[in-house]
Amino acid sequence: MTIQGTSYLSKTVESLKPSGIRRFFDLASKMDNVISLGVGEPDFVTPWNVIEASYHSLEQGYTAYTANSGLLELRKEISHFLNKHYSLDYNPENQLIVTVGASQAIDLALRAILNPGEEVIVVEPGFVSYAPAVTLAGGNPITVHADAEKEFKVQAEQLEKAITPNTKAIILCSPNNPTGTVLNNEELGKIAAVVEKHDLIVISDEIYAELTYDESFTSFASIVEMEERTILISGFSKAFAMTGWRLGYAAGPVSIIEAMTKIHQYTMMCAPTMAQHGALEALRNGESSVQKMKRSYQQRRNFVVKALKEMGLDCHMPGGAFYVFPSIKKTGLTSETFAEKLLHEEKVAVVPGNVFGSSGEGYIRCSYATSLKQLDESMKRINRFINNI
Ligand code: PMP
Repeated sequence: MTIQGTSYLSKTVESLKPSGIRRFFDLASKMDNVISLGVGEPDFVTPWNVIEASYHSLEQGYTAYTANSGLLELRKEISHFLNKHYSLDYNPENQLIVTVGASQAIDLALRAILNPGEEVIVVEPGFVSYAPAVTLAGGNPITVHADAEKEFKVQAEQLEKAITPNTKAIILCSPNNPTGTVLNNEELGKIAAVVEKHDLIVISDEIYAELTYDESFTSFASIVEMEERTILISGFSKAFAMTGWRLGYAAGPVSIIEAMTKIHQYTMMCAPTMAQHGALEALRNGESSVQKMKRSYQQRRNFVVKALKEMGLDCHMPGGAFYVFPSIKKTGLTSETFAEKLLHEEKVAVVPGNVFGSSGEGYIRCSYATSLKQLDESMKRINRFINNI
């Protein structure tokens, strides 16, 4: 934007590229009869008891701000949940903050720890927000490419090679968006040794933790000595099908959570009160709904991976989240051209892998958070598309 030749925009903001996912949504939304495997959110509606708890809270007059760090009752429930599921021990008084989605928790974490020019290692293919969030917090994102041959599991040695005297933190995401890859206890242990050796902090995005299908999930913070170095990020969007409620949280060392709360207090005040009341119910009585949705995702995952393999596309079995990340290299098309042609010719929307970083080139992300019927039809269309190239 310029007025009389002068740009009034921040140079940092101007340097950011718009998200590549948006472009495909915009294209798909203008077409009829499109099956979308593009969106990164559950197709389920939030469990009814959660909706009810939220509107009852409004009826009871809970319409004011909560404490900056969120309802203490909710923080206690989150602490209990993290303890029960992942053997973590966080004091709800000063080691937890309720945020506007995991997105805000990531932003707060980065702003709380970074000085200008400090480096944060970001793994690609990875969630599109990390690198821009680092830049916006005044830091420098440094990319490490997870290898397809290793099922996109980033290796501790790769992370170590990227460390410089300016490195402050590493962002990890397991289960991963877009690859669905889950890092197990042993792999996290190796990364923890590097983190300890180089005195780093880990921002561990565990928003898909409840959606792991084959192995039990290990939280990075539960690895020996790592609790004091980890900012655990999670939220309600994925497992509880609550993306629109905008509710997440961070747990971590007291000093970091206090710093995050300071920023939050000046910029957001608190997360939405009615959503916090819904989340309370989700944690207290939502387990059976989560398990039901999880069983459904698992069935869909198995169906999609089998279908893609039968078409001759290489695809590892993702251990978590609700994405598959097949290779489309054998088609000879770039991931961008593949996604565009597939949308126009067969009306199936997928996300080209390159939007998740250059190592995603040659892959596409398909979300299986849609009905088996739609998945079946979309797989038929993709098969026809590939055979006609
Ligand atoms: N982290 C990852 C890995 C995600 O995929 C997403 C949502 N796509 C988020 C964070 C943000 O979640 P929220 O809705 O809680 O802001």
